[in-house]
Amino acid sequence: MTDPQPPLGLFGTEDLIDGDDRAIRDAVRDFVRDRVRPQLPDWFEQARIPARELARELGKLGVLGMHLEGYGCAGTSATAYGLACLELEAADSGLRSLVSVQGSLAMFAIWRWGSEEQKREWLPRMAAGEAIGCFGLTEPDFGSNPAGMRTRARRDGDDWIVDGTKMWITNGSVAEVAVVWARTEEGIRGFVVPTDTPGFSAPEITKKLSLRASVTSELVLDGVRLPSSAMLPGARGLSGPLSCLNEARFGIVFGALGAARDCLETTIEYSRNREIFGKPLAAYQATQLKLADMTLELGKGMLLALHLGRLKDAHRLRPEQVSLGKLNNVREALGIARECRTLLGANGISLEYPVMRHANNLESVLTYEGTSEVHQLVVGQALTGHGAFR
Ligand code: FAD
Repeated sequence: MTDPQPPLGLFGTEDLIDGDDRAIRDAVRDFVRDRVRPQLPDWFEQARIPARELARELGKLGVLGMHLEGYGCAGTSATAYGLACLELEAADSGLRSLVSVQGSLAMFAIWRWGSEEQKREWLPRMAAGEAIGCFGLTEPDFGSNPAGMRTRARRDGDDWIVDGTKMWITNGSVAEVAVVWARTEEGIRGFVVPTDTPGFSAPEITKKLSLRASVTSELVLDGVRLPSSAMLPGARGLSGPLSCLNEARFGIVFGALGAARDCLETTIEYSRNREIFGKPLAAYQATQLKLADMTLELGKGMLLALHLGRLKDAHRLRPEQVSLGKLNNVREALGIARECRTLLGANGISLEYPVMRHANNLESVLTYEGTSEVHQLVVGQALTGHGAFR
Protein backbone atom coordinates (compact mmCIF):
# COMPACT_ATOMS: atom_id res chain seq x y z
CA MET A 1 0.00 0.00 0.00
CA THR A 2 1.25 3.54 -0.79
CA ASP A 3 0.44 6.80 1.01
CA PRO A 4 -2.72 8.37 -0.44
CA GLN A 5 -2.45 11.82 -2.03
CA PRO A 6 -5.22 14.45 -1.95
CA PRO A 7 -7.01 14.85 -5.32
CA LEU A 8 -5.69 18.35 -6.08
CA GLY A 9 -2.25 17.34 -4.78
CA LEU A 10 -2.12 14.89 -7.66
CA PHE A 11 -2.55 17.78 -10.10
CA GLY A 12 0.11 19.91 -8.42
CA THR A 13 -2.10 23.01 -8.67
CA GLU A 14 -0.59 24.32 -5.42
CA ASP A 15 2.51 25.28 -7.41
CA LEU A 16 0.35 27.60 -9.51
CA ILE A 17 -0.75 29.68 -6.49
CA ASP A 18 1.63 32.43 -5.44
CA GLY A 19 2.59 33.40 -1.89
CA ASP A 20 0.13 36.25 -1.23
CA ASP A 21 -2.81 34.41 -2.73
CA ARG A 22 -1.86 31.31 -0.77
CA ALA A 23 -1.62 33.20 2.54
CA ILE A 24 -5.12 34.66 2.04
CA ARG A 25 -6.47 31.26 1.03
CA ASP A 26 -4.95 29.63 4.12
CA ALA A 27 -6.43 32.26 6.45
CA VAL A 28 -9.90 31.64 5.01
CA ARG A 29 -9.39 27.88 5.21
CA ASP A 30 -8.46 28.16 8.92
CA PHE A 31 -11.46 30.39 9.65
CA VAL A 32 -13.79 27.94 7.93
CA ARG A 33 -12.34 24.95 9.77
CA ASP A 34 -12.41 26.53 13.24
CA ARG A 35 -15.44 28.77 13.14
CA VAL A 36 -18.04 27.48 10.70
CA ARG A 37 -17.57 23.83 9.81
CA PRO A 38 -18.64 22.45 13.17
CA GLN A 39 -21.89 24.49 13.12
CA LEU A 40 -22.93 24.00 9.53
CA PRO A 41 -25.00 20.84 9.76
CA ASP A 42 -27.14 22.52 12.45
CA TRP A 43 -27.50 25.76 10.50
CA PHE A 44 -28.52 23.77 7.43
CA GLU A 45 -30.95 21.54 9.32
CA GLN A 46 -32.57 24.45 11.14
CA ALA A 47 -32.39 26.70 8.06
CA ARG A 48 -30.92 29.40 10.27
CA ILE A 49 -27.58 31.13 9.87
CA PRO A 50 -26.29 33.85 12.23
CA ALA A 51 -25.74 36.13 9.24
CA ARG A 52 -25.07 39.38 11.13
CA GLU A 53 -22.54 37.82 13.49
CA LEU A 54 -20.85 35.98 10.62
CA ALA A 55 -20.74 39.10 8.46
CA ARG A 56 -18.76 40.93 11.17
CA GLU A 57 -16.33 38.03 11.47
CA LEU A 58 -15.97 37.80 7.70
CA GLY A 59 -15.38 41.55 7.66
CA LYS A 60 -12.55 41.15 10.18
CA LEU A 61 -11.15 38.35 8.04
CA GLY A 62 -11.11 40.85 5.18
CA VAL A 63 -13.09 38.87 2.58
CA LEU A 64 -16.05 41.23 2.03
CA GLY A 65 -15.40 43.09 -1.22
CA MET A 66 -11.80 41.90 -0.89
CA HIS A 67 -10.91 42.36 -4.57
CA LEU A 68 -12.15 45.96 -4.68
CA GLU A 69 -9.80 48.91 -4.17
CA GLY A 70 -10.27 51.63 -1.54
CA TYR A 71 -13.17 52.46 0.82
CA GLY A 72 -11.98 49.91 3.39
CA CYS A 73 -11.66 47.04 0.88
CA ALA A 74 -8.52 44.91 0.81
CA GLY A 75 -7.70 45.25 -2.93
CA THR A 76 -6.49 41.66 -3.36
CA SER A 77 -6.02 39.87 -6.66
CA ALA A 78 -9.06 38.35 -8.33
CA THR A 79 -7.40 34.95 -7.98
CA ALA A 80 -7.16 35.39 -4.20
CA TYR A 81 -10.86 36.26 -4.14
CA GLY A 82 -11.62 33.11 -6.14
CA LEU A 83 -9.56 30.96 -3.77
CA ALA A 84 -11.37 32.47 -0.79
CA CYS A 85 -14.69 31.57 -2.44
CA LEU A 86 -13.42 28.02 -2.90
CA GLU A 87 -12.61 27.64 0.79
CA LEU A 88 -15.90 29.21 1.88
CA GLU A 89 -17.90 26.92 -0.39
CA ALA A 90 -15.95 23.89 0.83
CA ALA A 91 -17.85 24.64 4.04
CA ASP A 92 -21.20 25.45 2.42
CA SER A 93 -22.46 27.20 -0.71
CA GLY A 94 -24.66 29.31 1.60
CA LEU A 95 -21.64 30.86 3.29
CA ARG A 96 -20.05 31.63 -0.07
CA SER A 97 -23.36 33.11 -1.25
CA LEU A 98 -23.38 35.52 1.71
CA VAL A 99 -19.90 36.71 0.74
CA SER A 100 -20.53 36.75 -3.05
CA VAL A 101 -23.71 38.77 -2.79
CA GLN A 102 -22.14 41.20 -0.36
CA GLY A 103 -18.88 41.75 -2.26
CA SER A 104 -19.55 40.96 -5.91
CA LEU A 105 -23.15 42.11 -6.25
CA ALA A 106 -24.12 44.75 -3.69
CA MET A 107 -20.68 46.29 -2.98
CA PHE A 108 -19.47 45.96 -6.57
CA ALA A 109 -22.61 47.73 -7.88
CA ILE A 110 -21.94 50.70 -5.57
CA TRP A 111 -18.17 50.62 -6.12
CA ARG A 112 -18.45 50.47 -9.94
CA TRP A 113 -21.57 52.52 -10.61
CA GLY A 114 -22.20 54.57 -7.46
CA SER A 115 -21.61 58.25 -6.63
CA GLU A 116 -18.74 59.26 -4.35
CA GLU A 117 -21.32 59.96 -1.64
CA GLN A 118 -22.86 56.44 -1.98
CA LYS A 119 -19.42 54.82 -1.89
CA ARG A 120 -18.39 56.70 1.24
CA GLU A 121 -21.68 56.04 2.96
CA TRP A 122 -21.87 52.29 2.36
CA LEU A 123 -18.64 50.61 1.29
CA PRO A 124 -16.55 50.92 4.49
CA ARG A 125 -19.42 49.59 6.63
CA MET A 126 -20.11 46.79 4.17
CA ALA A 127 -16.41 45.80 4.01
CA ALA A 128 -16.41 45.61 7.80
CA GLY A 129 -19.58 43.49 7.81
CA GLU A 130 -21.42 46.15 9.81
CA ALA A 131 -23.94 46.58 7.02
CA ILE A 132 -25.20 43.67 4.91
CA GLY A 133 -26.22 44.24 1.30
CA CYS A 134 -28.52 42.42 -1.10
CA PHE A 135 -29.07 42.68 -4.84
CA GLY A 136 -32.58 42.69 -6.25
CA LEU A 137 -32.78 41.85 -9.93
CA THR A 138 -34.91 38.67 -10.27
CA GLU A 139 -38.70 38.98 -10.12
CA PRO A 140 -41.39 36.32 -9.73
CA ASP A 141 -41.97 36.26 -13.51
CA PHE A 142 -38.54 37.32 -14.76
CA GLY A 143 -35.37 35.42 -13.87
CA SER A 144 -33.35 34.48 -16.96
CA ASN A 145 -34.93 37.42 -18.78
CA PRO A 146 -34.51 40.38 -16.41
CA ALA A 147 -35.21 42.80 -19.29
CA GLY A 148 -38.91 42.05 -18.74
CA MET A 149 -38.89 43.34 -15.15
CA ARG A 150 -42.03 45.04 -13.85
CA THR A 151 -40.53 46.95 -10.90
CA ARG A 152 -40.92 50.63 -11.78
CA ALA A 153 -39.37 53.84 -10.51
CA ARG A 154 -41.16 57.08 -11.36
CA ARG A 155 -40.28 60.68 -10.64
CA ASP A 156 -42.21 62.67 -8.05
CA GLY A 157 -40.61 66.13 -8.03
CA ASP A 158 -36.94 65.49 -7.22
CA ASP A 159 -37.74 62.14 -5.57
CA TRP A 160 -38.21 58.64 -6.97
CA ILE A 161 -41.13 56.37 -6.07
CA VAL A 162 -40.35 52.66 -6.52
CA ASP A 163 -43.01 49.94 -6.73
CA GLY A 164 -42.51 46.23 -7.43
CA THR A 165 -41.56 42.80 -6.14
CA LYS A 166 -38.20 41.03 -6.31
CA MET A 167 -37.91 37.30 -5.68
CA TRP A 168 -35.22 34.86 -4.52
CA ILE A 169 -33.00 37.58 -3.11
CA THR A 170 -30.03 36.34 -1.06
CA ASN A 171 -29.44 38.21 2.24
CA GLY A 172 -32.74 40.12 1.71
CA SER A 173 -34.22 39.86 5.22
CA VAL A 174 -30.93 40.60 6.99
CA ALA A 175 -29.77 43.43 4.73
CA GLU A 176 -29.31 47.07 5.75
CA VAL A 177 -29.12 48.10 2.11
CA ALA A 178 -30.65 46.74 -1.09
CA VAL A 179 -29.42 47.50 -4.59
CA VAL A 180 -32.68 47.37 -6.55
CA TRP A 181 -32.99 47.44 -10.32
CA ALA A 182 -36.10 49.10 -11.74
CA ARG A 183 -37.58 50.23 -15.02
CA THR A 184 -37.71 54.02 -15.49
CA GLU A 185 -38.60 56.32 -18.38
CA GLU A 186 -34.90 56.34 -19.23
CA GLY A 187 -34.50 52.54 -19.17
CA ILE A 188 -33.35 50.20 -16.40
CA ARG A 189 -31.61 51.98 -13.51
CA GLY A 190 -30.21 50.88 -10.14
CA PHE A 191 -31.20 52.33 -6.75
CA VAL A 192 -29.49 52.15 -3.39
CA VAL A 193 -32.33 51.52 -0.94
CA PRO A 194 -31.79 51.57 2.85
CA THR A 195 -34.01 48.71 4.01
CA ASP A 196 -35.60 50.81 6.79
CA THR A 197 -37.19 53.07 4.16
CA PRO A 198 -41.01 53.12 4.62
CA GLY A 199 -42.73 50.82 2.10
CA PHE A 200 -39.82 48.37 1.91
CA SER A 201 -40.18 44.87 3.37
CA ALA A 202 -38.30 41.59 2.88
CA PRO A 203 -40.22 38.49 3.97
CA GLU A 204 -38.00 35.41 4.14
CA ILE A 205 -38.61 32.50 1.75
CA THR A 206 -38.98 29.26 3.69
CA LYS A 207 -39.37 25.55 2.76
CA LYS A 208 -36.12 25.54 0.74
CA LEU A 209 -34.45 22.16 0.20
CA SER A 210 -31.23 23.81 -0.99
CA LEU A 211 -29.05 26.63 0.39
CA ARG A 212 -30.76 26.23 3.75
CA ALA A 213 -27.80 27.91 5.47
CA SER A 214 -28.47 31.10 3.52
CA VAL A 215 -31.14 33.77 3.87
CA THR A 216 -33.33 34.04 0.75
CA SER A 217 -36.13 36.59 0.57
CA GLU A 218 -38.77 38.36 -1.40
CA LEU A 219 -38.36 42.16 -1.60
CA VAL A 220 -41.58 44.14 -1.63
CA LEU A 221 -41.38 47.80 -2.62
CA ASP A 222 -44.68 49.55 -2.03
CA GLY A 223 -44.43 53.24 -2.88
CA VAL A 224 -40.84 53.46 -1.61
CA ARG A 225 -39.84 57.15 -1.75
CA LEU A 226 -36.15 57.80 -2.41
CA PRO A 227 -34.18 61.01 -2.90
CA SER A 228 -32.69 61.56 -6.37
CA SER A 229 -29.26 60.81 -4.86
CA ALA A 230 -30.36 57.14 -4.38
CA MET A 231 -29.92 56.34 -8.07
CA LEU A 232 -26.63 54.74 -9.17
CA PRO A 233 -25.44 57.44 -11.58
CA GLY A 234 -23.13 55.23 -13.65
CA ALA A 235 -25.40 52.31 -14.52
CA ARG A 236 -27.69 52.64 -17.50
CA GLY A 237 -29.60 49.70 -18.93
CA LEU A 238 -29.05 46.00 -18.27
CA SER A 239 -25.28 46.23 -18.67
CA GLY A 240 -25.19 47.64 -15.10
CA PRO A 241 -26.59 44.57 -13.32
CA LEU A 242 -24.95 42.19 -15.81
CA SER A 243 -21.51 43.60 -14.95
CA CYS A 244 -22.18 42.74 -11.29
CA LEU A 245 -23.39 39.23 -12.16
CA ASN A 246 -20.18 38.69 -14.06
CA GLU A 247 -18.20 39.39 -10.87
CA ALA A 248 -20.27 36.97 -8.80
CA ARG A 249 -20.12 34.27 -11.48
CA PHE A 250 -16.34 34.50 -11.41
CA GLY A 251 -16.38 33.67 -7.68
CA ILE A 252 -18.64 30.69 -8.38
CA VAL A 253 -16.15 29.29 -10.93
CA PHE A 254 -13.84 28.71 -7.96
CA GLY A 255 -16.47 28.28 -5.27
CA ALA A 256 -18.22 25.26 -6.76
CA LEU A 257 -14.89 23.42 -6.75
CA GLY A 258 -14.72 23.85 -2.98
CA ALA A 259 -17.97 21.92 -2.56
CA ALA A 260 -16.70 19.27 -4.99
CA ARG A 261 -13.34 18.98 -3.23
CA ASP A 262 -15.03 18.54 0.13
CA CYS A 263 -17.29 15.79 -1.28
CA LEU A 264 -14.39 13.97 -2.89
CA GLU A 265 -12.07 14.18 0.11
CA THR A 266 -14.87 13.02 2.41
CA THR A 267 -15.62 10.12 0.09
CA ILE A 268 -12.01 9.00 -0.29
CA GLU A 269 -11.63 8.96 3.49
CA TYR A 270 -14.94 7.14 3.89
CA SER A 271 -14.10 4.52 1.27
CA ARG A 272 -10.78 3.78 2.95
CA ASN A 273 -12.53 3.09 6.25
CA ARG A 274 -15.67 1.34 5.04
CA GLU A 275 -15.30 -2.45 4.84
CA ILE A 276 -17.53 -4.27 2.38
CA PHE A 277 -17.34 -8.02 1.74
CA GLY A 278 -14.21 -8.12 3.90
CA LYS A 279 -12.14 -5.39 2.26
CA PRO A 280 -12.16 -1.58 2.11
CA LEU A 281 -14.57 0.02 -0.37
CA ALA A 282 -11.53 1.99 -1.61
CA ALA A 283 -9.81 -1.23 -2.72
CA TYR A 284 -12.49 -2.10 -5.31
CA GLN A 285 -11.81 -1.25 -8.94
CA ALA A 286 -15.32 0.12 -9.40
CA THR A 287 -14.67 2.62 -6.59
CA GLN A 288 -11.29 3.66 -7.93
CA LEU A 289 -12.68 4.22 -11.44
CA LYS A 290 -15.24 6.61 -9.97
CA LEU A 291 -12.65 8.37 -7.77
CA ALA A 292 -10.22 8.74 -10.68
CA ASP A 293 -12.86 10.24 -12.98
CA MET A 294 -14.04 12.66 -10.31
CA THR A 295 -10.45 13.72 -9.58
CA LEU A 296 -9.94 14.44 -13.28
CA GLU A 297 -12.94 16.75 -13.36
CA LEU A 298 -11.95 18.50 -10.12
CA GLY A 299 -8.40 19.05 -11.34
CA LYS A 300 -9.45 20.24 -14.79
CA GLY A 301 -11.93 22.60 -13.16
CA MET A 302 -9.17 23.98 -10.91
CA LEU A 303 -6.84 24.55 -13.86
CA LEU A 304 -9.63 26.36 -15.68
CA ALA A 305 -10.43 28.48 -12.60
CA LEU A 306 -6.80 29.48 -12.08
CA HIS A 307 -6.45 30.31 -15.77
CA LEU A 308 -9.55 32.52 -15.67
CA GLY A 309 -8.25 34.08 -12.44
CA ARG A 310 -5.01 35.06 -14.15
CA LEU A 311 -6.93 36.48 -17.12
CA LYS A 312 -9.05 38.56 -14.72
CA ASP A 313 -5.98 39.79 -12.88
CA ALA A 314 -4.59 40.88 -16.27
CA HIS A 315 -7.95 42.62 -17.03
CA ARG A 316 -8.42 40.35 -20.04
CA LEU A 317 -11.29 38.14 -18.88
CA ARG A 318 -14.34 38.24 -21.17
CA PRO A 319 -17.94 37.49 -20.03
CA GLU A 320 -18.23 34.43 -22.30
CA GLN A 321 -15.09 33.01 -20.65
CA VAL A 322 -16.75 33.42 -17.24
CA SER A 323 -19.72 31.52 -18.71
CA LEU A 324 -17.39 28.68 -19.77
CA GLY A 325 -16.07 28.46 -16.22
CA LYS A 326 -19.43 28.69 -14.43
CA LEU A 327 -21.05 26.20 -16.80
CA ASN A 328 -18.29 23.63 -16.51
CA ASN A 329 -17.35 23.91 -12.87
CA VAL A 330 -20.85 23.96 -11.40
CA ARG A 331 -22.03 21.13 -13.65
CA GLU A 332 -19.01 18.98 -12.81
CA ALA A 333 -19.18 19.83 -9.09
CA LEU A 334 -22.79 18.69 -9.00
CA GLY A 335 -21.83 15.50 -10.87
CA ILE A 336 -19.08 14.85 -8.33
CA ALA A 337 -21.41 15.45 -5.38
CA ARG A 338 -23.99 13.02 -6.78
CA GLU A 339 -21.40 10.34 -7.55
CA CYS A 340 -19.85 10.71 -4.09
CA ARG A 341 -23.27 10.23 -2.58
CA THR A 342 -23.56 6.81 -4.23
CA LEU A 343 -20.26 5.74 -2.68
CA LEU A 344 -21.43 6.67 0.80
CA GLY A 345 -24.46 4.42 0.43
CA ALA A 346 -27.15 5.18 3.01
CA ASN A 347 -24.74 7.41 4.92
CA GLY A 348 -24.74 9.57 1.80
CA ILE A 349 -28.19 10.90 2.62
CA SER A 350 -27.27 11.91 6.18
CA LEU A 351 -26.29 15.35 7.44
CA GLU A 352 -23.55 13.54 9.38
CA TYR A 353 -21.64 13.81 6.10
CA PRO A 354 -21.49 16.97 3.98
CA VAL A 355 -22.07 15.29 0.62
CA MET A 356 -25.82 15.53 0.12
CA ARG A 357 -25.86 19.00 1.71
CA HIS A 358 -23.37 20.11 -0.97
CA ALA A 359 -25.33 18.31 -3.72
CA ASN A 360 -28.56 20.03 -2.66
CA ASN A 361 -26.83 23.41 -2.48
CA LEU A 362 -25.28 22.99 -5.91
CA GLU A 363 -28.79 22.64 -7.40
CA SER A 364 -29.27 26.34 -6.55
CA VAL A 365 -25.79 27.25 -7.74
CA LEU A 366 -26.63 25.60 -11.08
CA THR A 367 -29.66 27.90 -11.37
CA TYR A 368 -28.59 31.25 -9.95
CA GLU A 369 -26.16 33.68 -11.56
CA GLY A 370 -27.37 32.44 -14.95
CA THR A 371 -28.70 28.91 -15.38
CA SER A 372 -26.56 26.32 -17.15
CA GLU A 373 -28.76 26.68 -20.22
CA VAL A 374 -28.24 30.45 -20.27
CA HIS A 375 -24.45 29.96 -20.10
CA GLN A 376 -24.65 27.36 -22.89
CA LEU A 377 -26.44 30.00 -24.97
CA VAL A 378 -23.76 32.60 -24.17
CA VAL A 379 -21.08 30.15 -25.33
CA GLY A 380 -23.21 29.17 -28.35
CA GLN A 381 -23.52 32.81 -29.37
CA ALA A 382 -19.77 33.33 -29.00
CA LEU A 383 -19.15 30.29 -31.21
CA THR A 384 -21.69 31.00 -33.93
CA GLY A 385 -22.40 34.71 -33.82
CA HIS A 386 -26.13 33.89 -33.52
CA GLY A 387 -28.02 34.84 -30.36
CA ALA A 388 -30.53 32.05 -29.59
CA PHE A 389 -32.03 33.45 -26.38
CA ARG A 390 -35.40 34.20 -27.93
P1 FAD B 1 -36.46 30.76 -15.49
O1 FAD B 1 -35.81 31.95 -16.09
O2 FAD B 1 -37.96 30.71 -15.45
O3 FAD B 1 -35.89 29.44 -16.14
C1 FAD B 1 -36.58 28.17 -16.13
C2 FAD B 1 -35.86 27.23 -17.08
O4 FAD B 1 -35.90 27.78 -18.39
C3 FAD B 1 -34.37 27.05 -16.73
O5 FAD B 1 -33.99 25.72 -16.97
C4 FAD B 1 -33.67 27.96 -17.74
O6 FAD B 1 -32.35 27.56 -18.05
C5 FAD B 1 -34.57 27.80 -18.94
N1 FAD B 1 -34.43 28.92 -19.88
C6 FAD B 1 -34.53 30.23 -19.60
N2 FAD B 1 -34.33 30.96 -20.72
C7 FAD B 1 -34.08 30.09 -21.70
C8 FAD B 1 -33.78 30.21 -23.09
N3 FAD B 1 -33.69 31.42 -23.69
N4 FAD B 1 -33.59 29.08 -23.82
C9 FAD B 1 -33.69 27.86 -23.23
N5 FAD B 1 -33.95 27.67 -21.93
C10 FAD B 1 -34.14 28.77 -21.17
N6 FAD B 1 -31.63 36.71 -8.00
C11 FAD B 1 -31.26 37.98 -7.66
O7 FAD B 1 -31.58 38.93 -8.36
N7 FAD B 1 -30.54 38.20 -6.51
C12 FAD B 1 -30.18 37.21 -5.66
O8 FAD B 1 -29.53 37.46 -4.63
C13 FAD B 1 -30.58 35.85 -5.99
N8 FAD B 1 -30.31 34.82 -5.11
C14 FAD B 1 -30.83 33.57 -5.38
C15 FAD B 1 -30.71 32.55 -4.42
C16 FAD B 1 -31.26 31.30 -4.66
C17 FAD B 1 -31.16 30.22 -3.60
C18 FAD B 1 -31.90 31.02 -5.89
C19 FAD B 1 -32.46 29.66 -6.17
C20 FAD B 1 -32.03 32.02 -6.83
C21 FAD B 1 -31.53 33.31 -6.60
N9 FAD B 1 -31.72 34.36 -7.50
C22 FAD B 1 -31.32 35.65 -7.19
C23 FAD B 1 -32.53 34.15 -8.70
C24 FAD B 1 -31.80 33.46 -9.83
O9 FAD B 1 -30.86 34.30 -10.39
C25 FAD B 1 -32.87 32.99 -10.84
O10 FAD B 1 -33.57 31.93 -10.22
C26 FAD B 1 -32.26 32.54 -12.15
O11 FAD B 1 -31.82 33.64 -12.90
C27 FAD B 1 -33.25 31.74 -13.01
O12 FAD B 1 -34.45 32.42 -13.13
P2 FAD B 1 -35.85 31.67 -12.85
O13 FAD B 1 -35.74 30.96 -11.54
O14 FAD B 1 -36.92 32.66 -13.03
O15 FAD B 1 -35.91 30.55 -13.96
